[in-house]
Amino acid sequence: AAASSSRSDLDGKPIKAMTICMIGAGGFIGSHLCEKLMSETPHTVLALDVYSDKIRHLLDDAGTAAGHPWAGRIHFHRINIKHDSRLEGLIKMSDLTINLAAICTPADYNTRPLDTIYSNFIDALPVVKYCSENGKRLIHFSTCEIYGKTIGSFLPKDHPLRQDPEFYVLKEDVSPCIFGPIEKQRWSYACAKQLIERLIYAEGAENGLEFTIVRPFNWIGPRMDFIPGIDGPSEGVPRVLACFSNNLLRGEPLKLVDGGQSQRTFVYIKDAIEAVLLMIENPARANGHIFNVGNPNNEVTVKQLAEMMSEVYAKVSGERAREVPTVDVSSKEFYGEGYDDSDKRIPDMTIINKQLGWNPKTSLWDLLESTLTYQHRTYAEAIKKAIAKPIAS
Ligand code: NAD
Ligand code: UDP
Repeated sequence: AAASSSRSDLDGKPIKAMTICMIGAGGFIGSHLCEKLMSETPHTVLALDVYSDKIRHLLDDAGTAAGHPWAGRIHFHRINIKHDSRLEGLIKMSDLTINLAAICTPADYNTRPLDTIYSNFIDALPVVKYCSENGKRLIHFSTCEIYGKTIGSFLPKDHPLRQDPEFYVLKEDVSPCIFGPIEKQRWSYACAKQLIERLIYAEGAENGLEFTIVRPFNWIGPRMDFIPGIDGPSEGVPRVLACFSNNLLRGEPLKLVDGGQSQRTFVYIKDAIEAVLLMIENPARANGHIFNVGNPNNEVTVKQLAEMMSEVYAKVSGERAREVPTVDVSSKEFYGEGYDDSDKRIPDMTIINKQLGWNPKTSLWDLLESTLTYQHRTYAEAIKKAIAKPIAS
């Protein structure tokens, strides 16, 4: 069924099989996108990454896929795009390049600002250049963090205009990018992503590059980041889903940075991947556009997220919820000097709705239920062992 020729795009035209060069294919989003492309489309993926653990289930020992229904349609290339001359050839072989490669965990932005800026700007430059020079289409992953803080956040706390959507809804073609001062190195990531967006946009305007820019708003689900001490460094700090999962698995209180008052909207990875597939298969509707991809209906404060995750985890694990589920921690203590935060992130959905007819489906409760079921099934045993037998130092 996957390779059936009857699949058509949003305008009723048949979709032709294409070759996709996916950079960062071994990460969280990449692994879900590879799965989707293998199970539901006839496309071929050249999967580039330094890691392949998260897509190992799609590959055979040789990094291809013999023995799977998608045999011959996925090829893993262990490549660091910082320094590998094979990159241009792989882009040239493909119809479309998707760039997901990035350092994108907030704990790195203020502690490894040089790596962050190099990864998100300098290392993406050759990818843009090769696409532009070879007339290849590019889907580039940016971030909702590009918006920085909301305009409303600069009004006094009880000002009525803070409730006015004009002061907080984030619109691709209207909202400004508002970052903190240079010494708040948190913004090194957003600023690097902003400059590469501007460069891609300029390549489109001056040299005719066919591009789509994606701004993910907190996509979450199975395989996101790592659990410290289990499949990642013990002292590592992943994004909030994995931090809170780790606390729940270990029976520790969840840490709320600066009181957990920041607001986020979370979208289920499987909903978001549907949007990416629509972009891939509808170039005429996606080219030249920047798309917010998020779920405006799933807004919570970080504190509310912690409470909901505690409740959902108690349900899926069968363990009793803690009486004091959270503890406050200062951002300086948790992230170090130079941390700062986005206050609120509600994506405007007008453009993606109009161009691709996409809408998110899954509620926050439901997506946490399936994600925490996965976390429990994948990690609970390993955590029990790690707690029982601490590693000799
Ligand atoms: P991830 O860290 O899981 O995936 C990134 C992948 O890129 C990793 O597998 C990493 O090994 C690879 N990579 C990094 N540098 C590389 C290099 N030099 N050469 C080869 N591979 C390299 O992160 P993700 O959540 O899958 O995010 C993917 C993209 O989406 C990133 O650009 C990120 O900024 C953006 N994004 C994601 C979210 C989200 O909600 N998950 C939000 C905003 C932006
Ligand atoms: N956060 C928290 N406790 C944690 C991890 C994160 O309170 O253990 C907060 C963090 O300060 C931010 C929000 O959760 O306000 C989301 O963090 P994440 O790392 O997912 O990335 P962001 O949405 O800021 O890009």
